[in-house]
Amino acid sequence: MKNIFIMVMSGICMMPLLTACGNSADTVHTADLFAMDTYMNIKAYGKDAEAAVTEAEARIRALEQTFSVTNDASDIRKINQADGQPVTVSADTVSVLQTAQEMHHESGGALRISLYPVLRTWGFTTGAYSVPEADEIAELLQNVDDTKISVDGQTVRCPAGMEIDLGAVAKGYTGDAVMEIMQAHHISSAIISLGGNVQTRGSKPDGSAWTVGITDPFAPDMLIGTVSVRDKAVITSGNYERYFTGEDGRRYWHILDPADGYPADNGLVSVTVIGSCGAECDALSTALFVEGTEQAVQHWRRNGDFEMILVTSDGELLLTEGIAADYNAKNEMPCRVVQRNEEP
Ligand code: AMP
Ligand code: MG
Repeated sequence: MKNIFIMVMSGICMMPLLTACGNSADTVHTADLFAMDTYMNIKAYGKDAEAAVTEAEARIRALEQTFSVTNDASDIRKINQADGQPVTVSADTVSVLQTAQEMHHESGGALRISLYPVLRTWGFTTGAYSVPEADEIAELLQNVDDTKISVDGQTVRCPAGMEIDLGAVAKGYTGDAVMEIMQAHHISSAIISLGGNVQTRGSKPDGSAWTVGITDPFAPDMLIGTVSVRDKAVITSGNYERYFTGEDGRRYWHILDPADGYPADNGLVSVTVIGSCGAECDALSTALFVEGTEQAVQHWRRNGDFEMILVTSDGELLLTEGIAADYNAKNEMPCRVVQRNEEP
């Protein structure tokens, strides 16, 4: 289970406002659920809010089945058990695979969904954690190569022996799917938190921006700050979300560096990505975490249709220039604003 504590502060009463004279824009409906191995919350305002939230819950449950690595009927399980044969999958799976492939390319291979067998041997998929032997990791890495996954229409081929996991992207995609439902129900104000992946639609009903808390990776029950957003996804990958402490006293976390199969330790403990597309932000947050501080900044400069909030392992906060004005610090962490153009 993800140990995430991102607070979503809407600043609005959580109770349904079903008044007799009923200003429909004020009707709020919420749902809490546990899905995709994490706690989720959905909140929507508008006269169709209840129907929208009910539909969103059903969609989340269906996508959970589609993307599961354990459910025998899931698309991912079918791909992983196909032994090199072609498999027909849903449009949802195709879309997530395409995002993963694009991000694999953009991140120089940092995002690699075929790492799944390595994640499993660390116990990150089951909770039966242990530090594997170096030989075992090296052997499993032989079969890790996202470029060998082919997607042609709705037909997917993965070489025999290779297995994939969409955990780095699936929740962001699911958030986008929920936001499409909100749009179909004419909801102009909604906020969801899928295990700390926050996605917003419009603004708060009073027209002000949503305020999203950013977890302190060094003290995960605290916030380092908040960020004000409208119509944006705010998605975080952190080393505090899922980890274990080895017999050697070291912390081992769930985001692996494909370069060596060990937890990525390239200068960052938390990466928050703010952008329009949840799937892309989710893929990015994992990829940038692996890329590390310098590469993440270069990645943003190359392809900056997103903003980021980075926390380095030595306790510095880096904000990209497009988000700095919307960030409110809640602690004294030293902070630097990263500019689009390289500093001299
Ligand atoms: P996120 O919380 O979005 O950063 O996703 C982390 C999850 O992605 C992990 O729990 C693994 O299931 C998976 N994962 C870990 N490392 C990688 C990687 N380098 N590339 C792709 N997926 C990964
Ligand atoms: Mg991610």
